[in-house]
Amino acid sequence: SLGQEMDPLFQKQSSSSSRNSRILVFVRLRPMMKKEREAGCRSCIRVVNRSDVYLTEFASDSNDYLRLNRLRGRHFSFDAAFHETASQLDVYSTTTADLVEAVLQGRNGSVFCYGATGAGKTYTMLGTVESPGVMVLAIKDLFSKIRQRSYDGNHVVQLSYLEVYNETVRDLLSPGRPLVLREDKQGIVAAGLSQYKAYSTDEVMALLLQGNKNRTTEPTRANETSSRSHAILQVTIEYRTRDAAMNIINRVGKLSLIDLAGSERALATDQRTLRSVEGANINRSLLALSSCINALVEGKKHIPYRNSKLTQLLKDSLGGACNTVMIANISPNNHTFGETQNTLHWADRAKEIRNKAYETNEELVQVSESDADQAKLLLEVQKQNR
Ligand code: ADP
Ligand code: MG
Repeated sequence: SLGQEMDPLFQKQSSSSSRNSRILVFVRLRPMMKKEREAGCRSCIRVVNRSDVYLTEFASDSNDYLRLNRLRGRHFSFDAAFHETASQLDVYSTTTADLVEAVLQGRNGSVFCYGATGAGKTYTMLGTVESPGVMVLAIKDLFSKIRQRSYDGNHVVQLSYLEVYNETVRDLLSPGRPLVLREDKQGIVAAGLSQYKAYSTDEVMALLLQGNKNRTTEPTRANETSSRSHAILQVTIEYRTRDAAMNIINRVGKLSLIDLAGSERALATDQRTLRSVEGANINRSLLALSSCINALVEGKKHIPYRNSKLTQLLKDSLGGACNTVMIANISPNNHTFGETQNTLHWADRAKEIRNKAYETNEELVQVSESDADQAKLLLEVQKQNR
């Protein structure tokens, strides 16, 4: 059909190509909050153009800023830098839209939000009902892209939402006992993780908001989401069709959207008791993520994915056949200068990772002639029903 000819998915793909691509790294500055301004906080960061930010310890107003920058400033360059006025849609379109397209073509993709607590990670990923974030906009876009295409096959979109807290994996959509990680032929999976078939964007938002309420909260800060919890939304898109010879083509793409724990915990050593255990475990997951990134940057053969639950879960979303995007979230508040500096250094390092992003998870199943005849019949019936 015409639909097939025009569909880029039906073009021959060189799935064994080992062309490497750099991961994309973005930075997003959140606005100064009213409370902060009232408390006399000043801004220590400027987005100077579409890709560059300037970090400076003191300067606040423009004259000071220019003069002091020359003395103390540090300049960082990323694939794009989002100013505090950037909209959720700006951020989605620039960082994630291409990845959604790639996932439809059977590749894996992942987007991480990294940064200190209060820097805007959850706002960027989940957002609010009025201003939905990347998770919701990605799924919305996915639905509309699937609708636009006239395939003879079927797409099934399923999502699961999980948390890594204190080296324990939990299902955020169906809370219960901790989940055990198992290795199967698809990689590492959380056994018993619930999968939701998604139908509409509103439903997805409601599901995710509910899921976020299930994130483990700090014992001392009831009603607040823990800064120590990593939340991972996994969206799988399975596409099944038949080629001209009636072979079944099964294509699976997985999109992982990750709201990481506050990066300040990676360095902080807390008090004794339970809190220090939690601190140590967050250390473990975020440090393990950093070690994996370092190993990937250095082109090491062995990447230490096994060192934490987070990196085990993200094994196929970091390195390998995956398109990866990092969004470094930063606050303008000069009182968190150190955290902002750490985040920017980390993001700067992440720019060096190279992935083999050109492999696809496509499977061609040869079928017998009688199967092919049956399949042709099925296709005819489907066409007539349309
Ligand atoms: P984190 O998840 O990194 O701890 P949050 O996303 O919860 O941080 O953001 C902290 C606060 O700042 C929240 O009240 C959030 O609504 C607000 N905020 C963050 N980023 C933005 C933004 N780009 N625009 C408006 N408000 C934001
Ligand atoms: Mg958060």
